[in-house]
Amino acid sequence: MHISVIGTGYVGLVTGACFAEFGVNATCMDNDAKRIGKLEKGEVPFYEPGLTELVTKGSKEGRLSFTTDIAKAVEKALVIFIAVGTPPRSDGSADLSYVEEVGRGIARNMTGYKVIVTKSTVPVGTGETLRKVITASQSGKFRFDIVSNPEFLREGSAIEDFMRPNRVVIGAESEQAIAIMKDLYRPLYLIETPFLVTDIPTAEMVKYASNAFLATKISFINEMATLCEKVGADVQVVAKGMGLDKRIGSKFLHAGPGFGGSCFPKDLAALIQTGERLGYSMQIARAASKVNDEQRQRMVEKIRETIGDLTGRTFALLGLSFKPNTNDLRESPALAIAQALLKQGVTIRGYDPVALEEASQTVNGLIPCQDAYHAAEGSDALILMTEWNQFRNLDFERLKTLMRRPVLFDLRNVYEPTKVEAFGFLHVSVGRPSKGPSALA
Ligand code: NAD
Repeated sequence: MHISVIGTGYVGLVTGACFAEFGVNATCMDNDAKRIGKLEKGEVPFYEPGLTELVTKGSKEGRLSFTTDIAKAVEKALVIFIAVGTPPRSDGSADLSYVEEVGRGIARNMTGYKVIVTKSTVPVGTGETLRKVITASQSGKFRFDIVSNPEFLREGSAIEDFMRPNRVVIGAESEQAIAIMKDLYRPLYLIETPFLVTDIPTAEMVKYASNAFLATKISFINEMATLCEKVGADVQVVAKGMGLDKRIGSKFLHAGPGFGGSCFPKDLAALIQTGERLGYSMQIARAASKVNDEQRQRMVEKIRETIGDLTGRTFALLGLSFKPNTNDLRESPALAIAQALLKQGVTIRGYDPVALEEASQTVNGLIPCQDAYHAAEGSDALILMTEWNQFRNLDFERLKTLMRRPVLFDLRNVYEPTKVEAFGFLHVSVGRPSKGPSALA
């Protein structure tokens, strides 16, 4: 089978490369010529573990190709995945202009039956809108089916998530389209991946409901963390105690600086906006979003309360991407917190294993450093923002000699407080009692 993927970002490129690995011929199209030029040379334009190898393999074996020409992408493909961005508009609603533009491009170049699949996260009703857009722009009367096939991969483990997903959701109205999609995903069917076949609006809702639920779980534990701080309890143990209950589960109960990334904040906003448009206030989604915004401010407040006046202080920020194993900076709490601190007259020395260059271009004033120890030089505190593995075993003896004051803000609760305290550090984390000597000068 021949497929095309329109939009060669995190989702589109992983989709194309993984389908090529499944033995399908995949053409990846993007209107960013620079991006396609790089990919043709085997260069992946962002950091995702294992992706360069998979792209090289698919290209070498002739099953993966790249183009900027939508006509080429449409021509050969039976199935066309739309994986372009759906960023938030100023009112929070998803901007569907890229999806619609692709729909028009597909319509103008169709020469026969196509299955047109939304992989982008799109609000309920987009399948229907897309059908109308395509029908209105077709040059001839060619039959097509719309399918909603939301993507659940996580950046940092995208290939594994695509190749071994918890489920595949297929929203469609036509039996032919369902059969083609099942055929395409047969390698996953063979490893007993659950398939959920439903109508298009339901499939579209599954994605938003899932992301809103996960975001709510994070905001819930962050709210518990705030209360734990006030009563002297340990949120890590509370989360463990909750997670052992199989009805709750242990995942996504990790207190921290709040969620970021290109999905949770935007998908929550779009869900809230969908409710608003239809006359219903999505109260839980709203609360999850509000708690998350406040959590970032709370982290800045925590630093200020510990250190005192921030003017003239220097902090080492470890980790800048929104989570480990990606260079994605979109909605990264690290950047928001860095910006808030810079505003208060702080000097920020930052380090990230893969996102440093882009982060220093994004955050005015951030001093890029070569590693955690270089960042720590002359600093009043270390702020562990993103739990990259290389920050899990820091040499505190060495750090102590480099820093002005031995203080660690462990905003991902990576370390055991007493262990860090044993090195003479003040350890401040999220939802747990601080340990060590006071830092107030
Ligand atoms: P991205 O920004 O990394 O990639 C989007 C790509 O689309 C870009 O390369 C852009 O140049 C291209 N594009 C835009 N308009 C185009 C057009 N008219 N023709 C061809 N190409 C065009 O985005 P992403 O992170 O891959 O997300 C894509 C969609 O998938 C979004 O709706 C997102 O919510 C959803 N999603 C993302 C993730 C994730 O972890 N990133 C996970 C699940 C779902």
